[in-house]
Amino acid sequence: MRAILNALGLEKHSDYVRDYFDNVNMRKCIYMSTVIIVLELWMIIRLTRKIFKDSLHSQFMHLFEKYYSNYLILLFMGLIMLIYSIRFIRGKCRNRAMIILTKIVFMVVCIYFGIKVSLNDYYKGEQILTFITMELFALCLLTWRPFSAFIISGASFMYFYYKMNQMIAVSTMINRNTLSIANISDTGVTEATKINFFFMWISTIMVCIANYNGIRAQALKAENLQEVNNYLSKLSVEDELTGIHNMVYFRNEAEKVLNYVTTDRDNIVFLFFDIENFKSYNEKYGFHAGNDLLIKIAHMIDDAFNNSLVSRFSDDHFVVLTSIDGAKNIIGKLSGEIKKLQKEVHLELKCGAYKPIGNEADISLACDRARFACNSIKKHFDRTLRLYDKTLEDKFQLKQYIVNNIDNAIANGYIKVYYQPILLTKNKEICGLEALARWQDPNYGLLSPGIFIEILEEYRQIYKLDQCIIESVCRDYREAVDSNKPFAPVSLNFSRLDFELCDIVGFLCEAVKKYNVPKEFIDVEITESALTDQHEFLPNAIKNLREFGYRVWLDDFGSGYSSLNVLKDYHFDVLKIDMKFLSGFSNNNKTRPILENIVSLSKQLDMLSLTEGVETNEQCEFLTSIGCDRVQGYLFSKPVPIETLRERIAKGELTICDEYKS
Ligand code: C2E
Ligand code: CA
Ligand code: CA
Repeated sequence: MRAILNALGLEKHSDYVRDYFDNVNMRKCIYMSTVIIVLELWMIIRLTRKIFKDSLHSQFMHLFEKYYSNYLILLFMGLIMLIYSIRFIRGKCRNRAMIILTKIVFMVVCIYFGIKVSLNDYYKGEQILTFITMELFALCLLTWRPFSAFIISGASFMYFYYKMNQMIAVSTMINRNTLSIANISDTGVTEATKINFFFMWISTIMVCIANYNGIRAQALKAENLQEVNNYLSKLSVEDELTGIHNMVYFRNEAEKVLNYVTTDRDNIVFLFFDIENFKSYNEKYGFHAGNDLLIKIAHMIDDAFNNSLVSRFSDDHFVVLTSIDGAKNIIGKLSGEIKKLQKEVHLELKCGAYKPIGNEADISLACDRARFACNSIKKHFDRTLRLYDKTLEDKFQLKQYIVNNIDNAIANGYIKVYYQPILLTKNKEICGLEALARWQDPNYGLLSPGIFIEILEEYRQIYKLDQCIIESVCRDYREAVDSNKPFAPVSLNFSRLDFELCDIVGFLCEAVKKYNVPKEFIDVEITESALTDQHEFLPNAIKNLREFGYRVWLDDFGSGYSSLNVLKDYHFDVLKIDMKFLSGFSNNNKTRPILENIVSLSKQLDMLSLTEGVETNEQCEFLTSIGCDRVQGYLFSKPVPIETLRERIAKGELTICDEYKS
């Protein structure tokens, strides 16, 4: 059915295809009307010359009626059509009714002219070329839907045929001098002419159909291309998930705002939004629910700042460029609305605000600063907004410094390894050392990992630091052994990102080989949170490490939400109990039974237990009483340089297990 409708040209056209046809027709109209104008001018000139040459002045009125009027009508038609189609192409006039009218009037005039002239010619015994030319001109050069071409050409051919037939009948009858009506039937057009006539009609329609289908195919192709184009250009400025603007659009527009707004600049503020705990929401309710929530929040922010520049940068991060007036109220309201969306996961809106200073126009920097302000209030319960100020500026500068100088710091030896002893609970002898990084900076002094680890992870530079620590530890081992100094097995902290950003296991193997370090002297600590992130390569990496002969420890056990799952899925040699458990030791009476159970659980799972953050004798005694295997903490020693540790061992303040003495 559809195929038949298509063949007849009865299918519905999309706006694009319809416009495409109109456009094609109007372009053709320009050429055709020009041809008509030239032709008619030529006819008029020719006839006028004939009148003057043959002195036919007296017959002027007769000639005017017979020829001039036709030529003038066509000339006039051609002019109107030319003007209209040029205006259409230039986009000055897009009236569809006018397009159809122009097309129809043009077609009717052409065909009528063709019929009239050809009948005249035929009467004189000449061929009917004008009729054929006009049919082709009006029906095949212009594009018609096949059914309308069929009707128009059918009607005109029949009319012409009827007129021709009548004319022949009359002339043959006159010739025969018989006026008997009964004989008319055998006096008309001959059979051969009829067949020729029929074929000509069919050919005209075929050309019309082919023409129509050709243009339609082009139109559909162009429409597809246009759609792809539209999609791509939309994609380049629109966030695919939420439909609000994306980062690219934001940057471009924000740049324009900053460059063009010279007055009232104090009023401008960049806001960076982050939804705290969105990750947990995603984990709990799944990816789709997470996406739905993001879409909802995106539109809430977009609506709340309806006259401002709103965009989604990534994940649950949104950036807005707006006027500072009233922004605080809007953020407050938004925060309330977002809280209402939470189910069992506590959702909180966090916003960092940055006001550009003076003529500043660096959009990336402005967004980074707003983001920095936002990050600074993460995990600060019920704090929604933080303006970027001098304190943050100092911290921000330090952050930039760390990111820009990590390579330098490694190359210049500013990265040091500090060792914190790990002791056997039973006799308080050192059985291991944890390697902890320090950055001894010429400008900032001693920087602790609490400052730089997170930044290096954020900028995916952490593997450089960890490689440097591996190398230093192996070197320290070799030096100690070569000079007969004590040294115990060292546990290294690996970031989850190390496995992603480099072949950290391969690097460790190389270093161990280079400095000839026995595998038993290297342990690897992996934090629990690294394992809950569901990275496919981590289980493999852990397996490899153990197969190569290294021991793998679970660090910070109990600090996250999925501690027990991690224990179920992986095997570790040592379970390092997070120092958080000891923080409420003296006033929280739940701490003791919990610790006791963790220690007993580790025994059941064939792991050694180690509690970190031991600061008091009371804690140490309790851990001894419950059978915790190892302890680590300020009670025994803070992390110190290897030389300091040796001095303290030499002084007898710390004792090292016999097997590691030298
Ligand atoms: P962590 O692995 O949990 O290391 C234990 C942290 O607790 C160390 O802080 C240590 O100095 C501190 N600490 C030890 N005993 C006590 C105590 O009794 N009381 C208190 N309050 N704190 C204690 P540090 O050295 O500042 O390291 C912080 C974190 O930085 C480490 O936590 C570790 O996650 C990370 N880190 C340190 N060095 C490296 C490294 O080389 N590579 C990687 N990827 N991360 C590192
Ligand atoms: Ca650790
Ligand atoms: Ca730890």
